[in-house]
Amino acid sequence: MAQTNGGHNAFAMAQAQFDRMAEQMELDAGARALLREAQREYSFSIPVRMDDGSSQVFRGFRVQHNDARGPSKGGIRFHPMETLDTVRALAMWMTWKCAVVDLPLGGGKGGVVCDPHHLSLREQEQICRGWVRQIARNMGPLQDVPAPDVMTSPQHMLWMLDEFEAIHGAKLPGFITGKPVGMGGSLGRKEATGYGVVYTIRETLKELGILTEATRASVQGFGNVAQHAIELYQQLGGTVVCVSSWNQEDQRGYAFRKMDGIDLQELLGITNRFGGIDKAKAEAAGYDVLPGEAWLEQDVDILLPAALENQINAETVGKIPPRVKVIAEGANGPTTPEADAVLHKRGVFVIPDLLANAGGVTCSYFEQVQNNANYYWLRDEVLEKLDLKMTQAFMGVSQVATDQKLYMRDATYLIAVDRVARACRDRGWV
Ligand code: NAD
Repeated sequence: MAQTNGGHNAFAMAQAQFDRMAEQMELDAGARALLREAQREYSFSIPVRMDDGSSQVFRGFRVQHNDARGPSKGGIRFHPMETLDTVRALAMWMTWKCAVVDLPLGGGKGGVVCDPHHLSLREQEQICRGWVRQIARNMGPLQDVPAPDVMTSPQHMLWMLDEFEAIHGAKLPGFITGKPVGMGGSLGRKEATGYGVVYTIRETLKELGILTEATRASVQGFGNVAQHAIELYQQLGGTVVCVSSWNQEDQRGYAFRKMDGIDLQELLGITNRFGGIDKAKAEAAGYDVLPGEAWLEQDVDILLPAALENQINAETVGKIPPRVKVIAEGANGPTTPEADAVLHKRGVFVIPDLLANAGGVTCSYFEQVQNNANYYWLRDEVLEKLDLKMTQAFMGVSQVATDQKLYMRDATYLIAVDRVARACRDRGWV
């Protein structure tokens, strides 16, 4: 994920969004002052002995934006361009995301300035353990619970858990989520975000009176979120005509189209572990290979951005054909504010990121619940509960949007900020 949004500082943008909502809700000055900043921020050094014997110091962060509704929750990113401001923005967005799905959790985020591409596994393990050593007293199952994010994996989570448990002298699997299945991880986690997106699409189509079987979709990205979203959407009878992915060799994005519908299994067979589809093999299998941006120019009913931020922007929004009725934001921040205003005016039904991709954090919450109970659910149980939670959240937002004649994104923010502000007030903080 990039550090800025259309050239803006991500945190300034998150604060501007909040300020606009606070104004609209006539939020009191105390709650505004509290919620536009993080409650706690940690920035620390992580010294690591490198494989060549030298020592290198990495910068680590953890931001706990708000924990009025429960322990802070949010991922840890490894990124060479990580900044405290990016982490602040992402932590604030996590507070709203957890609140909109009504999880008893607050919002947090963490990061390390590093590039795992240039680090051995042993060096990465040392960074994970070092990160935990610096912050172990200020985190825990009852305070703040991290998870994987950009360039961190279940293996990183397990190293972090191991260090945390060594420090505390106890088994505390609820310290971190996104663990490997069998080591405290939850079944259903890998499909949770993509499936969650499709639960919200299904409810949207019901509301619009459109049969899923009659719809066509185009998807940006072919990674974890996109692959599982496509799987469930196809199971519901929808047709995906186009997907896009990043090509490592020539450092460009490409769109792959089959007018009568892509074959998911066939494409998975020619996709690498980073979600990159093999261009030559796709061509040989009969796909039209188009420039990356072509994904949003297709004559479809549904667009599903599931790759990067800022993809629907002032330059690209005009290329979206009139047939598009629904945009489901699988990615975080795929639409810039300028493009959003255009979509709103055109009457496109946008399922905002805070709601559409909340399936991931919801399943992380389920993982914690299972850890605390030390009892593990079947995959179907997890997915059933996920569907219920996502559907309830969707209906809540949609009700507010209808009742107050609001754009879905504004209704989402309204519910989230209201819930968090209420918790702060009820606790007597403001
Ligand atoms: P991923 O790394 O598994 O997949 C990313 C996909 O995007 C890959 O197929 C890659 O080839 C493609 N891509 C990258 N650059 C591209 C470009 N310029 N043009 C076309 N395709 C491009 O990532 P993911 O986990 O699927 O996450 C995707 C988005 O969803 C991110 O914005 C992420 O923050 C968000 N998200 C993910 C989760 C989760 O649980 N994985 C949860 C919430 C939000």
